[in-house]
Amino acid sequence: MATVFEKIIAGELPANILHRDDRVVAFTDIRPAAPTHVLVVPTKVIETVDDIGDEDEALVGHMIIVARDLARRLGIASDGYRLIFNCRTHGGQEVYHLHLHLLGGRVLGPLVQRG
Ligand code: 5GP
Repeated sequence: MATVFEKIIAGELPANILHRDDRVVAFTDIRPAAPTHVLVVPTKVIETVDDIGDEDEALVGHMIIVARDLARRLGIASDGYRLIFNCRTHGGQEVYHLHLHLLGGRVLGPLVQRG
């Protein structure tokens, strides 16, 4: 079954799309956890970080380059930001289509809750 991200990529679900090229689409998160919260999503369906293949090395690098450029464009690069991949249940992954979170616009606090 297609995930919500596949539907957004196909234009079947609305989203605030900030970037699109031949390999990735980036759009704002529907439930932002920070003033800037963007998802960088490959058009290729890869369910989790654990499903990334060696052949996807350039694609994953491209996702990071797109996030870097968006951070600059959105004015959060100089103060800094966080990039996150969540993987499966313990990682808190909700949508099983690989995506990179770009978060910024405020001090984000500790990486994870301790304990
Ligand atoms: P995950 O927890 O899988 O790493 O992150 C999934 C993210 O997708 C969540 O931050 C959630 O708010 C976002 N999300 C879920 N459904 C939609 C949607 O339909 N549209 C957009 N723009 N974001 C979504």
